[in-house]
Amino acid sequence: MNRHAHEVRVFDVVQETPEAVSIVLGLTPELRERFVYTCGQFLTVRVPSAQTGSVARCYSLSGNPHRDEALTVTVKRVAGGYASNWLCDNVVPGSTLTVLEPSGKFGPDGANEDLLLLAAGSGITPIMSIIKTVLACGTGDIALLYANRDPGSTIFAGQLEQLTREHPERLRIQHWFETDQGVPDASTLTTLLAPFAERATYLCGPAGFMAAAAAALAGLGVPASRIHQEKYLSLAENPFEQPEPSSTPASPGTEGAALEVEIDGDRHTLTWPRQTRLLDVLLEHGIDVPYVCRESICGTCVCLVRKGRTRMVANDSLPEEDIAQGLTLACQSLPDTDEIFIAFDQ
Ligand SMILES: Cc1cc2nc3c(=O)[nH]c(=O)nc-3n(C[C@H](O)[C@H](O)[C@H](O)COP(=O)(O)OP(=O)(O)OC[C@H]3O[C@@H](n4cnc5c(N)ncnc54)[C@H](O)[C@@H]3O)c2cc1C
Repeated sequence: MNRHAHEVRVFDVVQETPEAVSIVLGLTPELRERFVYTCGQFLTVRVPSAQTGSVARCYSLSGNPHRDEALTVTVKRVAGGYASNWLCDNVVPGSTLTVLEPSGKFGPDGANEDLLLLAAGSGITPIMSIIKTVLACGTGDIALLYANRDPGSTIFAGQLEQLTREHPERLRIQHWFETDQGVPDASTLTTLLAPFAERATYLCGPAGFMAAAAAALAGLGVPASRIHQEKYLSLAENPFEQPEPSSTPASPGTEGAALEVEIDGDRHTLTWPRQTRLLDVLLEHGIDVPYVCRESICGTCVCLVRKGRTRMVANDSLPEEDIAQGLTLACQSLPDTDEIFIAFDQ
């Protein structure tokens, strides 16, 4: 079992809408430190499967990490989807779930910046975490555009209304209901978003909504570095079923870059074969490196290239500005120079 996986008790299950439940996890005092998170992060949940043993799915935390004691994830049923329906049908108070420690990066570093937030459907979950955190811990002004099929399918409708009553000067919500207005397209979104085009933007929802919103923002001249997107994909890899890192280091290769890695305060010197991704090299050498998806979605294996140069095979989570600062995803990185120094936990 993955070293970062823990069994946690379900403290409560809240029916948010006919299709979505919030699962509230109670943490033992020993686990609290391991589940410290930042706003917008997610948990990876193990869902049992008769076919494969299990599947792994990510669910965003919706709370304010500085105020909320319990951890809450919200799962919306996906038509024909396996894990979302299993969780909605089977999890009750008192159930035990196996989850990985929080990971990902989808939220502002501070709480004083003015933000434009765009959510559709279950995409509200990480956005809710950002809203609660900014309102409670800073001075930032928030404009939220929130699209749903109809009022009855609007997750957190009551909580959002309460927050607008408590912070009328700082939280403006524009609801969009598809049954009344149709699916929002790029030109309509352009008109709605224009007054907020100077703000940092966080965007989460179904692919069509994300594409329309991204096109509208690009048309308004918002640079890509200011548009942060959380893509809801199902993991193809399963971090729960993968073997533990080997305890005997793989035999050193002769072909490759000279690699020095700093992680958890330890330094390791290895050979990095030219065609092998950094995460695989480290796991082969028994180095306990953080990762979840291995698909460039989650950003958990992010690390800093301090010396030398690497390239990524794919990148679905790191913004250009982070790459410019030397950050890279270990699951996607190949060596480009002969000598490389990489640091985790930067
Ligand atoms: C960082 C992150 C955060 C997330 N946060 C949330 C959240 O807060 N709330 C939330 O509800 N979701 C969230 N998700 C999405 C979640 O992880 C799952 O992707 C979602 O619940 C669907 O999983 P599923 O197993 O039910 O569907 P899947 O079984 O993966 O199916 C998904 C889709 O694929 C289709 N499909 C399935 N199997 C096949 C097949 N064999 N052939 C063709 N089509 C197929 C299904 O019909 C369905 O349309 C998040 C994802 C990520 C990456």
